[in-house]
Amino acid sequence: MSARPVVVAANWKMHKTGSEVEPYFEAFHRQARKRGTERVVVFPPFPLLEAAVRAAGDRVEIGAQNCHWEASGAFTGEVSVPMLAASGARFVLVGHSERRQLFGETDEDCGRKARAVLAGGLAPILCVGETLEEREAGRQRAVVIRQLTRALDGLPDSGSGRLHIAYEPVWAIGTGRSASPEDAQEMHAAIRESLTTVLGARTAGQVPILYGGSVKPGNAAELLARPDIDGALVGGASLSPDGFASIVAAGSRRAGIA
Ligand code: PEP
Repeated sequence: MSARPVVVAANWKMHKTGSEVEPYFEAFHRQARKRGTERVVVFPPFPLLEAAVRAAGDRVEIGAQNCHWEASGAFTGEVSVPMLAASGARFVLVGHSERRQLFGETDEDCGRKARAVLAGGLAPILCVGETLEEREAGRQRAVVIRQLTRALDGLPDSGSGRLHIAYEPVWAIGTGRSASPEDAQEMHAAIRESLTTVLGARTAGQVPILYGGSVKPGNAAELLARPDIDGALVGGASLSPDGFASIVAAGSRRAGIA
């Protein structure tokens, strides 16, 4: 019996405009009528947050794809955690590989953001994952553990109950090539072991670790059947409400047996 909730999350990335928000949630709820106890989170772009909070209904939570670590100030173009909280967001993605690779976010930036999210009362999903080059060199475990331990350095004990991790191998994101359930489980177990060292066994056992990287309706169930895969972070396949609803259904089945 797992102490962790099953969490299924949609990352819309830089897709959709305001007029698409309500129809998306209407279609999603039509498809996902028989929901279980899993948590569902949708991450729209910043300008759609409030519309998504209104349209999502009370069984879907809304999160932001990024944040700044300061609460306010001269940081043109940035958005702070208190602003996100005031918009109704409950989660924030931290350190998505596109932020790390395209916008130069470091492990230390990710740590500052994760601490700010926890201090602001929201839940961070800290994303970690190796590149293809790093996997081919056999360095996947070392890379992911480094990302994790640097970002978690100085994390306050209070609030660590809200911490979530997403293991997202960079070579699997948006490529159609998912990690095998065995490889994903091996990395999730390594992450759990490292969390145990940093946070202690009790807290580590409660942190949901999501898998992300080309999750689709056709492979979600076999990934979610693994003991340390507590959910999914879904990019491309979440843009269709029907596709996302069927991944959520796989999460419901897992939640039913967890
Ligand atoms: C993501 O953006 O976090 C992601 C996992 O994308 P995709 O599902 O498209 O691989």
